[in-house]
Amino acid sequence: MSAAALPESIRVIVRDWLNANHVLFVGRDENVLVDAGHMTHVDETLRLVREQLAGRPLHRLVNTHCHSDHMGGNAAVARTFGCPVWIPEDEAPLVRAWDGRGLWLDYAGQQAERFEFDAVIRPGDTLRMGDADWVVLAAPGHDMGALMFWHEATRVLISGDALWETGFGIVLPGPGWRERLQAARETLHAIRALDPRLVIPGHGKPFATVDAAIERCLSRVAAFEADETKLARHVMKVMFVFTLLERGGMGEDALVAFLGSVPLYAEYDAAWFGLGAAGLADLLLGDLVRSGAVVRDGGRLRAG
Ligand SMILES: [Zn+2]
Repeated sequence: MSAAALPESIRVIVRDWLNANHVLFVGRDENVLVDAGHMTHVDETLRLVREQLAGRPLHRLVNTHCHSDHMGGNAAVARTFGCPVWIPEDEAPLVRAWDGRGLWLDYAGQQAERFEFDAVIRPGDTLRMGDADWVVLAAPGHDMGALMFWHEATRVLISGDALWETGFGIVLPGPGWRERLQAARETLHAIRALDPRLVIPGHGKPFATVDAAIERCLSRVAAFEADETKLARHVMKVMFVFTLLERGGMGEDALVAFLGSVPLYAEYDAAWFGLGAAGLADLLLGDLVRSGAVVRDGGRLRAG
């Protein structure tokens, strides 16, 4: 097995920033899917998973955590393949209540199809996936209930949004923000202690340069810790680009109304910026257009 090779039973379906990657385990006895992508692209998800299953059944869907880019396709996958859905234990109360704030849905201007779950998984559990035993590990920070999956024999880690090659999932500012950043740091340290040979992240390609990725993330954690306002500004930008991906763009004339109607932006503006929706629109667009993350295109805004 070469440095970057994966065990035969794992098929990594690399997606994008709106849809989390899918990790499909095709085993002798059962086939398991990790993460289901976003609801708006679920037809493509179903096509990709069907293609890899090649007529085999899907026995289980498991989530690393319950944000819309990972669980938005859960309902459609469960309906299509008739499989049970297993989610992290700490996400269960949020999913049961379909908590739009806790799940970052209407609170953040995002959407997902509501789903039912059949079982919960927790740190310390062993999951049988692709004829191998994977250990369930806590991965708090980006999502305090998030989990990751570790296979000791091959030293492969499925990290969700705790670690990508280029960063990690946003951590929210506001009450508890220091604890969340500290949790993200501890999760990064825990990953470093595992010394993975390969990380399969929630977004982007699998990668082996784990130490460099962790160092980058640790310095970002430190930079955010020094400045909560900077963290708030970063979170708004990431959330807004996500919305552009989700909606396939937005009329520039709809931006102020959008920012005024979504609780996250109104709250952050009140807490840190005091600009009003129009001022906030100028601030965000200025940053995002300058960095190329958003492109102005004939009166429409789209993700760059
Ligand atoms: Zn994600």
